[in-house]
Amino acid sequence: MELPKFMLIPPQRLDRYRPLLGDGRFAEVERVAAQARRDFEGHAIWHVSSTARGGGVAELLRSLLPYVRGAGIDTRWVVLRDGSDFFTITKSLHNRLHGSNGVGVKLGRHERRLYEATLEMNWAYLERLIQPGDVAYLHDPQPLGLVPDLKERGVQVIWRCHVGVDRPNALTREAWDFLRPYADEADAYVFSRREYVWHGLAEEKVWVMPPSIDPFSPKNQELDPPVVDAILAAIGLQPAAGGVAPVYRRGDGSPGRVDRRAELLQEAPLPQDARVVLQVSRWDRLKDPHGLLECFELFFNDPSIHLVLAAPSPDAVADDPEGAVVLSTLARTWRFLPEEKRRRVHLVSLPMNDLDENAAMVNAVQRRADVIVQKSIAEGFGLTVAEAMWKEKPVVGSRVGGIQDQIVDGENGVLVDDAHDLEAFGRAIHRLVEDPALAARLGEAARQRVFDRFLGINRLAEYVELVASLMAPAQTTASRKAPTA
Ligand code: UDP
Repeated sequence: MELPKFMLIPPQRLDRYRPLLGDGRFAEVERVAAQARRDFEGHAIWHVSSTARGGGVAELLRSLLPYVRGAGIDTRWVVLRDGSDFFTITKSLHNRLHGSNGVGVKLGRHERRLYEATLEMNWAYLERLIQPGDVAYLHDPQPLGLVPDLKERGVQVIWRCHVGVDRPNALTREAWDFLRPYADEADAYVFSRREYVWHGLAEEKVWVMPPSIDPFSPKNQELDPPVVDAILAAIGLQPAAGGVAPVYRRGDGSPGRVDRRAELLQEAPLPQDARVVLQVSRWDRLKDPHGLLECFELFFNDPSIHLVLAAPSPDAVADDPEGAVVLSTLARTWRFLPEEKRRRVHLVSLPMNDLDENAAMVNAVQRRADVIVQKSIAEGFGLTVAEAMWKEKPVVGSRVGGIQDQIVDGENGVLVDDAHDLEAFGRAIHRLVEDPALAARLGEAARQRVFDRFLGINRLAEYVELVASLMAPAQTTASRKAPTA
């Protein structure tokens, strides 16, 4: 087995946010950062996750941790190394936490042994580096089994669970039972929504914090329309554009350029005047790209409306072994579409070799869209929704999980009550495609919603408060509960 991987976190200056927040709000951010520098000196905060790319956790860490480092706090990020069947087991835990069975792997003693064996191998390396008095911030079920070793070493442990369901079922409980021996020992839990808090966890250890986005990252930074066209041409989704280079700013501030092509399943590139309906998500059953494709087949006869389904290239997302299967099912359906429909559906796998470049591709695809859909059957939070809303796009999402916390139906987007109701999705999408004034009004309100609640900088104070409460529990018990927004 290879060693766990240390991720580089280039520090990012907080004062990038000053113009966006205004002097008053920014002064408060600076005050919190100064306090944290004093409180945390000599202690490291270790974030542990299972993948460096593709998916919301990686996105969240890439967009938040540079600012924490930039604030002068010693923060590190380690990505676990896979062991035998580890990610098959943890994907199955992930599916169950969403109330779904997925590929049907069982969770017995044998699976527990394999799960623990991989974590033991990772721990053999990490224990030489993590010091007593440090804080470990574990993300999702994959690293949770490290808790007993970390506690024995004198480390304070936060477990952040990014997934959950609004109404737990027998499968969800099965995952809880598998994970509970490790979770019980953690010092604090962070859930994205109140509804996701497991039954039976010590309530005083629970914090509720939604994820957030970075408005300056390659994923969300402003791109002029000609640059959007140039990037889409570079990846092969649009015909070649003249003159303008497909350029963007990298996470570290240096210039970047999109050079790689996407893997595309399409008859021909998007016509210039096409109206674009988009979903960006990993190739995952629970995101239901297939349902959206069926919806398009049934209800979209206007020859100017195109559907784009975009995702990270499936072999690039290490902890998601199901992606390739989902994509090949979609590809099969696509091949059997009537020719006129097939011409208007584009399946796009975006290369992940260079994560900034990949983010710029996602950014451009989102900016090109007229309507963005998130037709998930279950959704922890759905960063893709916040990303779309920040870009002033009208979003149609299912009323599940964290999508409901972001979209206020009719005010800043549209929620569809039944995630399986293809006709309702078809109606909602049509309404927005056909009514640009409505789309613009919802889009404008959407950006404001993200500004108010889901920018990384809004979460910095809570993050500092949480970590500080573990380093000096006596000081902070009065202010223990973080606000939810
Ligand atoms: N994403 C990406 N590259 C891609 C496609 C998606 O970085 O080619 C990102 C997407 O922009 C979002 C994240 O992956 O930031 C997905 O997070 P979300 O919370 O929507 O879902 P998750 O994958 O965590 O279930």
